[in-house]
Amino acid sequence: MENYGGIVEKLDEWVEEHINDLVDFVCKLIRVDTSVPPGKNYDKIAEMIADKLNEVGIKAELHEIPEKLLMEKMKEDGITDISGPRTNVVAYLEGKERKPKVLTNGHTDVVPARPDKWSVDPFKGVVKNGRIYGRGSSDMKGSLGAMIYSMWAFKDLNIKLNGDIVATFTTDEELGGYTGIRYFIDKGIINKDMDYCISTDGTIEEINIADLGDVEVVITVWGKPYHSGTGWRGVNAIEHAASLINRLVELGKKIGERRSKIPIKPIDDVKYMRPGLYVNVIEGGLKPNIIPYKCTIIVDRRMIPEENLEDSLEEIRKVINKYVKEHPEVSIDMHHRAYYPPGALDPDHPLVKIVKEVTKEVLGEELLAVGGQGSTDVAFIGALGIPTVCIGVGREESNAHGVDENIRIEDLKALTKILIRCYVRLLGVADT
Ligand SMILES: [Zn+2]
Repeated sequence: MENYGGIVEKLDEWVEEHINDLVDFVCKLIRVDTSVPPGKNYDKIAEMIADKLNEVGIKAELHEIPEKLLMEKMKEDGITDISGPRTNVVAYLEGKERKPKVLTNGHTDVVPARPDKWSVDPFKGVVKNGRIYGRGSSDMKGSLGAMIYSMWAFKDLNIKLNGDIVATFTTDEELGGYTGIRYFIDKGIINKDMDYCISTDGTIEEINIADLGDVEVVITVWGKPYHSGTGWRGVNAIEHAASLINRLVELGKKIGERRSKIPIKPIDDVKYMRPGLYVNVIEGGLKPNIIPYKCTIIVDRRMIPEENLEDSLEEIRKVINKYVKEHPEVSIDMHHRAYYPPGALDPDHPLVKIVKEVTKEVLGEELLAVGGQGSTDVAFIGALGIPTVCIGVGREESNAHGVDENIRIEDLKALTKILIRCYVRLLGVADT
């Protein structure tokens, strides 16, 4: 890449000099247990991040979602097991001009850990054998550290970029709640004026350009209650739900045969993104001697970038309508919630090209641009029309969400350098 008068080397050196400090900071982040559910200590970690940024001269603000809005949105998405404030952070490293703008995003929450299964305390932040161990080291407190230090490097060396970096640190990604990215979008903090987004909720083994869309479809079958002694006079909602489920399973098989044109790192014999429809929750019945009048099932529908919400719901609605037509004694209603839009960035987009080149420089190998079989809140940023890629600090061996989650310190260093080079390439260095 263009050398910019040795500026990139200087920035690389800065990272080398600050790596021990960065490791300490990531350990501190791990020590704040931000497990969700229920969403612990979001205010504490937000303050720790904002304090660090402000301390090094980067403007950072805290934004807590109002209690009433929080409750309203959680109810909409059918989420109940939460407690504590939802505090997000936004930081600005101003360039010479306000454009272009790069957004980086990461989440501060982690999934819970069962300490008895771990070889170290999951919330202690233990460094050994060139690695950091702890819940969230890989998903994704290591990446948060890289986001902060990559900005600080420019500030500390007094190197000005042409455009702005906006970094957001958001909550409840692991829960699928509204409170993080979606709240920042509604507040206009994350907006269409941003030219690129690098989410650090990823791995250092690939460049993620697409994730599955996701929606929960809540279907309620209504029958008629009756005493079981004369049970034939009732309409059994559970038995009808069972028949309906069989039809949904058939639809799921059909959907499962579809493939996206976006490749994935192969899973079994699946080489391209694969959609799905699964019946994952069922609730019904009052007492063994009463014909149940109500049975609710929840379908998880995963969409590939080529699919959309409307058509996906319509497919399900058709199955339901046909069923009701054949069985007029039941009524069935459905609604959807917890939606993540499907979407993908064109593998030939300039952002992908730059990230590929930069990873090759830092890691010595060019990473592949692929889709993933997960669903993350980053989808909402892509849905705004902001070109978005994900690259993070973890690897498969990191065992994110699992026992003894860990990262390589080398990867932490590499991600920091990758982010720095992305800023230089995307924003350009201002003449001083
Ligand atoms: Zn994550």
